[in-house]
Amino acid sequence: MLASLTVLGTAATTGTAHADGCYTWNRALSQGASGEDVRQLQIRVAGYPGYGEVVAVDGQFGPATKAAVTRFQQAYGLSADGVAGTNTFNKLYALQDNDCTPVHFAYAEMNRCNSDWSGGAVSAASAKANALQQMWKLEALRHALGDRPLTTSSGFRSTACNNAVGGAANSNHLYGRGIDLVGSPSFCEIVKQARSHGFNEILGPGYPGHSDHAHLGTQSSRYWSASNCGI
Ligand code: ZN
Repeated sequence: MLASLTVLGTAATTGTAHADGCYTWNRALSQGASGEDVRQLQIRVAGYPGYGEVVAVDGQFGPATKAAVTRFQQAYGLSADGVAGTNTFNKLYALQDNDCTPVHFAYAEMNRCNSDWSGGAVSAASAKANALQQMWKLEALRHALGDRPLTTSSGFRSTACNNAVGGAANSNHLYGRGIDLVGSPSFCEIVKQARSHGFNEILGPGYPGHSDHAHLGTQSSRYWSASNCGI
């Protein structure tokens, strides 16, 4: 971010210059690489897995990660070679805030009921980390829908919050992986496009209880249902 650039001159004399307040990559990453820097990259390109797929965030740069990086590069008009280098990292820096959320989404939008992330099905830290991953998928979805704003009505829920709204017993919302979207674009536009951005639990109009929002989640197996949208 621009605010960080002003300190680069002094930082360079003391060692690591951070290109971004959130995270700085220090090497180009290509297929075969592994490590935390790969995992950080995977979080940010997980919205580009291809239709019906989910990118594993495991720190191993395999063919699926290469394909996701390529699609990310294509989405932003970069040279698309599947190698994450300076241009790719600079785009990621531009797309994220200092708390590592993508620029068009914030933790508060993913946590409208319980602000400390506790009381769900996983630890608060895990719920928040899951929500971060989902926000990067939302950023990809938003971009694919023509950079139109997306509005959440629900994200992470504690058990109490989930019960209060009549959520399913083992809802992805309890893990920080469930997102409900309202407003525009239309629910059918959202659920159809979401199939290409790392969401494999997709519920919308035609599915019971989902006439007034689009639900997106990520889980171990695919479940899509929005019969009014042809899904
Ligand atoms: Zn939901």
